[in-house]
Amino acid sequence: MVPLVGLLDDKRILVTGVLTDASLAFAVARLAIDQGAEVVLSGAGRGLSLTRRTARKLPTEVDVLEIDVTEPEQLESAARQLERRWGRLDGLVHAIGFAPADCLGGDILKAGWDDVSVALQVSAYSLKALVGPMLPLLEAAGSSSVVALDFDARVAWPAYDWMGVAKAAMESLSRYLARDLGRHGVRVNLVAAGPVRTMAAKSIPSFSAFEDTWGARAPLGWDVTDAEPVARACVALLSDLFPKTTGELVHVDGGVHAMGA
Ligand code: NAP
Repeated sequence: MVPLVGLLDDKRILVTGVLTDASLAFAVARLAIDQGAEVVLSGAGRGLSLTRRTARKLPTEVDVLEIDVTEPEQLESAARQLERRWGRLDGLVHAIGFAPADCLGGDILKAGWDDVSVALQVSAYSLKALVGPMLPLLEAAGSSSVVALDFDARVAWPAYDWMGVAKAAMESLSRYLARDLGRHGVRVNLVAAGPVRTMAAKSIPSFSAFEDTWGARAPLGWDVTDAEPVARACVALLSDLFPKTTGELVHVDGGVHAMGA
C-alpha cells in the first residue's frame, strides 16, 4: 500500500479498546503513532493488565488509563487526567463492544433484559458515555474527530443477534451525536469493518461462517488477519482530510456491503 506521511502530526488521541495486538484498536494506535500522533490508550477491568502489556508492543511508549465505560467516575477521572496532560483532545477512538453469551448464537428470543441491557450499554450507550466527559477537551481542540468501530447493522447476520441490535443503536446514536456536536467543532463518524480475528470476534459463535465467506463475496477480497485497512480508514477520519464529514459510516469490508449476493 502507498506509504502515508505525517497525517496526524501534533494530534493527541485517546484510543480505547486495545486488548491484544490483534485488536482493531491496536492497528489504529500503531498507525496513528506512525503518522505523528501522541496516543494514550485505555483499558478496562480484568483486561487492563493485558492492555498494558500490549501497549509495550507499540512503536513508542504510551500510557494506559483505566476506563470501564460502565463506570462514570472512571470516565470523569480519565477526562481530568487528559485535561492535565494535554488540555485538548484531537481524536477519540471508540473500539468497545461486549455482549453476554445469551445475546449471541442465533436465537434472538433467548436473552432477557438483564443481558440485553449490558450489551446495549457497553456496545452502544458507551459512545455517549465516553464522548460526554471528553467534550470540553474535544471542543478545546477547535476541530476534532470521534471515530467508532461498527459492524454493518442494516441486515441480520448469523449468530450476531443482540450485538447487531446494539450496533444499529450505535449507528443511530452516531448521527445524533454528529447533530449535537457539530457546533462544538467535533465530527463523529463510524467505520464498519469486515470480520477481523480478534478476541471479541472469537467470542461470537459461528464467527468462522463470516471468515469463510467474506473473502469470496468481497469484490476487493478480504483478509481476516489484516486490520491495517480498517486502521487506515480510522486514521483518515482522525486526520484533517475529512473536515466537513460527520454522521458518516465508512465501510471497510472489501465491498461486501454493496453486493446483493
Ligand atoms: P477486542 O480486541 O476484543 O476489543 C474489544 C474491546 O472492548 C476490548 O478492549 C475490551 O476490553 C473492550 N471492552 C469490553 N467491555 C468494556 C467495558 N465495559 N469498558 C471498556 N472497554 C470494554 O475486539 P475488536 O474486534 O478489536 O473490537 C473492537 C470494536 O470493533 C468493537 O466495537 C467491535 O464490535 C468492532 N468490530 C469488530 C469487528 C471484528 O470482526 N473484529 C468487525 C467490526 C467491528 P476488556 O476485554 O478488557 O473488557
